[in-house]
Amino acid sequence: MKLTGRTAIVTGGAKGIGFGIARRFVAEGARVVIADVDADAGARAAATLEDGARAVPADVSRPADVTRLIEQTLGSFGRLDILVNNAGVSLPAAFLDVSLDIWERTLAVNLTGAFLCGQAAARVMAKQRWGRIINIASINAFMAEPHAAHYAASKGALVQLTKGMAVDLAPYNVLVNAIAPGPIATERSAPIFARPDQQGMLGRVLLGHPGAPTDVAAAAAFLASDDAGFIHGTVLLVDGGFLAG
Ligand code: NAD
Repeated sequence: MKLTGRTAIVTGGAKGIGFGIARRFVAEGARVVIADVDADAGARAAATLEDGARAVPADVSRPADVTRLIEQTLGSFGRLDILVNNAGVSLPAAFLDVSLDIWERTLAVNLTGAFLCGQAAARVMAKQRWGRIINIASINAFMAEPHAAHYAASKGALVQLTKGMAVDLAPYNVLVNAIAPGPIATERSAPIFARPDQQGMLGRVLLGHPGAPTDVAAAAAFLASDDAGFIHGTVLLVDGGFLAG
């Protein structure tokens, strides 16, 4: 087991990729706090992971929620070793129709949420002189799709935030990396991927099929583990070859 004795927070850990990461971390011996704005789903997710997990309802874009999340994590487990900034929203809209509300909500969750959680967690990790922060970006940090200019902007900025955090947190032995998933089939995304208008995009996955949350979870478990002790400030593509083709 790669993560025995570690305590992790997984934001947006109630569903989809985040739940896959939480489940894998528990299987690797970590104690996991599932921090999700959907309190009921978070509680259900934590219950399925039994003693390995607890849920803390939190909206990562709200500073007071983030403060409470860190306090409750330390209250329950006494330390915080790993943060996965996974919570994200995708609110598809053509650029001409992107309202200020859609723009601000996208940036608030996908970027400001990672800043708030990352800074609060890093303050704890810096004192421990050990920490791992993993930001879940997207291939959309590097390429654009229709109706996703605001989403691509948030994920591109998240990659640059990752690099800036890596520079400033290196002296504290807090390692910061990003994972950029390609299409990953979740309860939410699988029906979208089944639509005819998505087949061109899916056809660009060289391996011929979407990934699964377990694929991203395996990469996250690696980056959080001692095996990744010299990997810092980089982006790991988990995209089935999408960006190579
Ligand atoms: P999902 O919608 O299935 O799950 C997202 C989770 O985040 C939900 O449980 C939701 O309640 C929670 N959440 C949303 N806003 C929140 C907030 N403000 N505070 C706390 N929790 C919040 O999404 P997913 O497909 O599993 O995506 C997870 C991450 O991976 C996102 O950052 C997404 O951008 C990224 N990603 C997904 C794909 C994909 O194909 N599924 C591809 C690339 C990147």
